[in-house]
Amino acid sequence: MNRLFCVIPCYNEEEVLHETASRLEAKIKSLVAAGKIAEDSRILFVNDGSRDKTWSIISELHEKSELFQGINLSKNMGHQNALLAGLMTAKDLCDAAISLDADLQDDINAIDEMVEKYLNGADVVYGVRSKRATDTFFKKFTAESFYKLMNGLGANTVYNHADYRLMSRRALQALSEFGEVNLFLRGIVPMVGFNSDVVYYERAERFAGESKYPLRKMLSFAMEGITSLSTKPIKMITGLGVSIFLVSIIVLIYSLVRHFTGHTIPGWTTTVLSVWAIGGLIMISLGVIGEYIGKIYLETKNRPRFIIRDYIGDEEDVEIANYTYKR
Ligand code: UDP
Ligand code: MG
Repeated sequence: MNRLFCVIPCYNEEEVLHETASRLEAKIKSLVAAGKIAEDSRILFVNDGSRDKTWSIISELHEKSELFQGINLSKNMGHQNALLAGLMTAKDLCDAAISLDADLQDDINAIDEMVEKYLNGADVVYGVRSKRATDTFFKKFTAESFYKLMNGLGANTVYNHADYRLMSRRALQALSEFGEVNLFLRGIVPMVGFNSDVVYYERAERFAGESKYPLRKMLSFAMEGITSLSTKPIKMITGLGVSIFLVSIIVLIYSLVRHFTGHTIPGWTTTVLSVWAIGGLIMISLGVIGEYIGKIYLETKNRPRFIIRDYIGDEEDVEIANYTYKR
């Protein structure tokens, strides 16, 4: 029988946790009753260094029912790392894991279809938003331009897919081979390969609390995605350099002709303009290169991507996980 894990990263989610837990509990129970998943399927919350009561709520849930498990990270490590911590724990415990947000924006009714597709042989099932009716215009616009930009730059992502997806055990094992510190899961998962499928759902409003992704975080997330997956910006710099070089040859010929035909050019405007223009270009280029060097720097350090403080769950699961963590 297939043991399913639902992995949910939580950062200051005390307002939504009870509701999320009870809705997911009902969903898991109905799937178990329908004989689709094993009875010992679990819901695994990852507390990403929350400053509110999130962890005590998770512990409480676990006390009440072994259906709920919890991982407590040593500090806030960010959404992607928290998610990875959960998935990497689940990979040795389950047959398939579904990742979703704590805020119930991802319609949990899509889980049935995801499981169905997994049972039909898909190793990765992407949850794709069919509509963004409830998002603000700003969120919709920024998110959609981001997907277009990413794909334009050659980083393969599934359009309108966030981190709501099912992965089979072997897909998770394969994911664990990707050791990057600069983590952008929705760009890495397609590289894992295997059979994939898609499930459409409507994205709902945040159930309670507010988005943990303000504009500042969204921009840095976008930058992260581009620079950790694509080297196109570097190629673009090369292209730019070549074109500027070609233009400068034309300018050189032009000024030589002017010189030999006896027209002295005052030249102040062109000099000042080119100093500014080229100075600016150099600075932009250095900035982009700096981004990559920063990435290399972080990767070579080989730091852990997440650090787990506690893991509460079934005894055997904790035993297996402790072994995995030490590896
Ligand atoms: N999250 C996290 N660590 C963080 C920020 C967010 O674990 O540093 C979790 C958060 O609790 C939620 C999920 O990541 O379950 C997605 O965050 P959010 O819903 O705020 O993002 P949005 O849906 O607005 O893009
Ligand atoms: Mg959300």
